[in-house]
Amino acid sequence: NASPIYRGRFAPSPTGDLHFGSLVAALVSYCEARSHNGQWHLRIEDVDSTRTVDGADQRIFDTLKAYQLQWDGPVIYQTNERQQQIYREALTYLNNSGLIYRCRCTRKQLSGYSTYPGNCRFQTIDKAQPHSIRLRVDDEVITFHDTYQGRQQQNLYQQCGDFNIVRKDGLFCYQLAVVLDDHAAGINHVVRGIDILDSTARQIYLHQKLGLKPPNYAHFPIMVNAQGHKLSKQNHASAVGCEDPVKVTRLALQLLNQVVTNQPMNQQQLIQWAVDHWQPDRFKNQTRITYGDTP
Ligand code: GLU
Repeated sequence: NASPIYRGRFAPSPTGDLHFGSLVAALVSYCEARSHNGQWHLRIEDVDSTRTVDGADQRIFDTLKAYQLQWDGPVIYQTNERQQQIYREALTYLNNSGLIYRCRCTRKQLSGYSTYPGNCRFQTIDKAQPHSIRLRVDDEVITFHDTYQGRQQQNLYQQCGDFNIVRKDGLFCYQLAVVLDDHAAGINHVVRGIDILDSTARQIYLHQKLGLKPPNYAHFPIMVNAQGHKLSKQNHASAVGCEDPVKVTRLALQLLNQVVTNQPMNQQQLIQWAVDHWQPDRFKNQTRITYGDTP
């Protein structure tokens, strides 16, 4: 039996422009997919539509094009009616399985808890009351092998508690959406930053409860600045420029400890070089990479 084609993805949130850290996420998932002769899909993670910034999706496309990171197939949006329908069906399925319940806890009531204390687990809350929807978790250890980080484990009951899959304002939560989106798109390899590693056990649990096969996971080290802070939109990392993609890409590859050539190349040639010489073992088991100045 031939193994199925590698299907990877990049899943940015349209909450702003791509910054250097998110460009690295695109680059790593792209190189991983293409070096396996695989496909690389693009999903705009706008499930939290309250955070969507107008035009951010178009600027993400423009940046990916400038960096010669060409995706396969149509772009999926989580706010597409098709995706929303998939989420609703999954919710019905989980409800029929007796796995979810309404929760009316307020942020204030939960402040100070690192795991959900289960206040609403055995209560009947009227649907007319403002409520979120939580998924019951088992007191069992979930283990998985992360391609870059090795063996991982988490006991959801002890380390996270029943978690939300629908918010009080009715929007679906990232954890549910990402699992269903990846499944619907046939994604079998998820490559993303180590900052999301902590969500992975929840996502595997959701796959299990929905009767779906989880993809392989690989979490690469995140880029931190000299102060040790993660590059993120929250700490106002600036948009990665498109004026000199070769320079920025070379820097990203160097930071990822890849073999970088000094031969003059255009961006298309450099990306092809990166794919042809891709060696993730060279940053495996690293959790953070410190860089000097944001390019
Ligand atoms: N949308 C998430 C982000 O921009 C990525 C989620 C994922 O790759 O699973 O950080």
